[in-house]
Amino acid sequence: MRFLLYFLHLMLLLLGAAVPSAQAWGKEGHYMVCKIAEELFSKRAKAAVLNLLPESAGGDLAAVCSWADEIRFRYRWSSPLHYVDTPGVCNFNYSRDCHNSKGIQDMCVVGAINNYTTQLLTYQHSSSGYNLTESLMFLAHFIGDIHQPLHVGFEDDEGGNTIIVHWYRRKTNLHHVWDTSIIETAMKDFYNNDVDVMLEAIKMNITDEWADGVKDWKKCREKSVTCADKYAAESITLSCDYAYKDVEQDITLGDDYFFSRIPVVEKRIAQAGVRLAQVINHVFRKRGKMENLELLSQKLHQIHLI
Ligand SMILES: [Zn+2]
Repeated sequence: MRFLLYFLHLMLLLLGAAVPSAQAWGKEGHYMVCKIAEELFSKRAKAAVLNLLPESAGGDLAAVCSWADEIRFRYRWSSPLHYVDTPGVCNFNYSRDCHNSKGIQDMCVVGAINNYTTQLLTYQHSSSGYNLTESLMFLAHFIGDIHQPLHVGFEDDEGGNTIIVHWYRRKTNLHHVWDTSIIETAMKDFYNNDVDVMLEAIKMNITDEWADGVKDWKKCREKSVTCADKYAAESITLSCDYAYKDVEQDITLGDDYFFSRIPVVEKRIAQAGVRLAQVINHVFRKRGKMENLELLSQKLHQIHLI
């Protein structure tokens, strides 16, 4: 019996070790981002999203909001698209930072958001063969990721992945603290261990405490397809001012860190949700005649090229 227990214990340990470390907002974070967005979709956006979702989603975008994490080991090329690193500086520069480890440009979370938004613009005009179901699931996930501050972190420590810390008594790393631990502790301490209770509290803040700022969240002066550059710049600033601040290898993080960082995490989840809705509504908005003609001529051009 004792041996059996020991064996079971060992198996559990091995299983635990085999689970890849989280590389994104945990499931709860992504779920809340998509849930917030869904309620802000326009009629057209809602219909298009329903049309594109895979059957497994059961009509709920939030159900497939972590799909991109589940397939990142199958679609190996997609792994660098979840984040972007800077060379140890607190600002973001697209041409300097947006590349994968082989130096291929645009292979980062900012490039991915721009790319999948562009693909979705071909909805109902598509002659391109894009899998728009995947484009939608990628986009919904990456807009969440880019708002997790340490998804725009320093190259040397892999966005906090190599900084080992103790979250209260549990050994983990700084990246994981921001993906998952802060949210889990908040759920446990404030929200009855129920993600929907946490979600309601965040949604209430959007219409209440943060209401004045929401207009600014949506402001986009960039010339590129989306405002992803702006989101990345905000995240690296938050990484420097909150995530990395006063943290060193092997430190124990507890109440002081938790209480001063949880407002940042909740606000980033809210911003990601509001902006995901904004991008999706923009993509599926009613188009003018001129735009339709332009898309049609691109389509004809492509056919001609083929
Ligand atoms: Zn991710």
